[in-house]
Amino acid sequence: MNQEQRLELASSRLQKQKEERIAAIRNQLPQGESAETCEACGVEIPERRRRALPGVKLCIQCQERKERGL
Ligand SMILES: [Zn+2]
Repeated sequence: MNQEQRLELASSRLQKQKEERIAAIRNQLPQGESAETCEACGVEIPERRRRALPGVKLCIQCQERKERGL
């Protein structure tokens, strides 16, 4: 195997890792039906938010709190 082939192999391996990471992140996103009310506090989730974020389960406040790790 020459140097060029080795570089090509390394970069295709990196590319594959990148794609796998992106796929893993995608799998973590909420999927399926959006909740009509927040799972955490029970407040109604506006339809606009439900449409913008398919599978959303939390209201804006709870989502922000969760993202901050509080
Ligand atoms: Zn909430």
